[in-house]
Amino acid sequence: MSLLSVDQARERILSHFQPVTTETLPLAGCSNRVLAQDITAPNDLPPFNNSSMDGFAVHAADVVDAATDSPRSLRVVADIPAGSHPTISLAPGEAARIMTGAPVPDGADAVIPVEDTDFDNREAGTPAPDEVQIFKSAKPGANVRPRGMDLRAGEVVLYKGRVLKPQDLGLLAMLGFANVLVYRKPRIALFSSGDELLPVDAPLEEGKIRDSNSYTLAALLEEAGAEVLRLGVAKDDPDSVKALLEKAVQHNVDLILSSAGVSVGAFDFVKQVVESNGIMDFWRVNMRPGKPVAFGEFKNILFIGLPGNPVSSFVGFEVFVRPTLQRLRGSLNPGRQTVRVKCEEQIDSDGRESYLRAQVHEKDGSFIARLTGHQGSGNLHSLVQANALLIIPAGVKCVPAGQEVNAWLI
Ligand code: AMP
Ligand code: MG
Repeated sequence: MSLLSVDQARERILSHFQPVTTETLPLAGCSNRVLAQDITAPNDLPPFNNSSMDGFAVHAADVVDAATDSPRSLRVVADIPAGSHPTISLAPGEAARIMTGAPVPDGADAVIPVEDTDFDNREAGTPAPDEVQIFKSAKPGANVRPRGMDLRAGEVVLYKGRVLKPQDLGLLAMLGFANVLVYRKPRIALFSSGDELLPVDAPLEEGKIRDSNSYTLAALLEEAGAEVLRLGVAKDDPDSVKALLEKAVQHNVDLILSSAGVSVGAFDFVKQVVESNGIMDFWRVNMRPGKPVAFGEFKNILFIGLPGNPVSSFVGFEVFVRPTLQRLRGSLNPGRQTVRVKCEEQIDSDGRESYLRAQVHEKDGSFIARLTGHQGSGNLHSLVQANALLIIPAGVKCVPAGQEVNAWLI
C-alpha cells in the first residue's frame, strides 16, 4: 500500500471528475448554483441618466453664484417622479422637481438636493412649487448618475464557473436574465457502515453508538451544492454493502460517498465489495487525521470511502470531497480559502500533514489560533468547539508559539 501526499491523492481523485450537465433555471432558483455561461450585459447600467437625490434638476451654469444669503430663483417647469419619462428640455432659468432614480431631463446637468433649496418639503403628495430658491451652487454632473457609469452594454459581467451569490442574482435581474444556464446539482449517494451504528432516535445500547457521520456529511454535501441521496447504514457484511451500492447505481448518481468500513479490519467489507464490482484503489495518505482513503468505481460510478471516525470523515470531506464537488458542479474555485493565523502556543505534530481543530479570534488585526481540546479523531465535540482547521505541513514536527500557519475557517 503506497503512502501518498495529500496533494497527490487529491489530484488523482480530481483527475477522474468532469462537470455535470447543465440546465436552464428561472433566476429565483439560481442562488448558489454555478453559472454555465458567460453573462454579457445587453444594456448599459444604469440604463439612463438619473438623479441620485430628491431635489431639483437644473443647469449648473444657472446656479454658480447661488448661496444662502443670495439664492438663485428658478421657475419650476416640470415634476419628474421615478418611473416617469420626461419629454421636456430644460431651458436656462428653469428647474424641474425630480425624485431619486428618476430620469434627468434633457438640458439639465445637475441636481440640487431639496435641503439646499427653500422647498425642503418631502411629505408624500406635496405638489411641486412654481418657483424654487436655490441656496447652493453645483458642479456639472452633481447628483446625476450617468447612463453606463456602472457598466456598459457588451461587457462580460459574470463568467462561466462562478458560484452565484445573492448580489449576482440582483445584477442578472437588472440585466433582464429571467432564465440562466447553470450546472445541475451533482447527485451524491451517501451511506454509513458498521454493525455498531444506531439510528439517531434509538436509545443507546451497550457497545453501540449513533450514526453521526451521515448527518455531518449530508449537511456538508448540501451546503456545498449537492443533492444528497441518503442510503442509510450498511451492516458489516458484503450483501448489505452491495445492496446499498446497487441502489446508488439505480439512481445513477455522480458519486458514491461512504464512511467507515474501508480500513484493514476483519469486518471492513466496503473495499472488497467495490473491488469485485469495479476498481478499488486504497491509499494511505500522509495526513492526520484521516490517513486511509478509498477511491474507486462501483459499476462505473465513482466512489470515495472516507474513514469512520467522525473527525477523520469531516477532514476527509474538506480535503478530498469538497474540491471534487466543486469540479463536479462546474465551479472554477477549489473551495475553502486559506488564511494565515498565528499560533498562540507551541504545536507539536508527527510530521504528517495535520489538520488541527482550533478556535481563531482576531486580535490587533491578525488571527490568533488556539487548539480546542483533545485532537483524537473520534472527538467530535472539539471539532464543534473549533472554528478553524490549522494546516501543519508534512515534515513539520514543531510549530513554535507566535509562528503563522495556514488555516481554513470552518
Ligand atoms: P471503521 O473505519 O469502520 O473501523 O470505523 C472507525 C471508527 O469510526 C469506529 O470507532 C466507528 O465506530 C466509528 N464510526 C464509524 N462509522 C460511524 C458513523 N457513521 N458515525 C459515528 N462514528 C462512526
Ligand atoms: Mg467499522
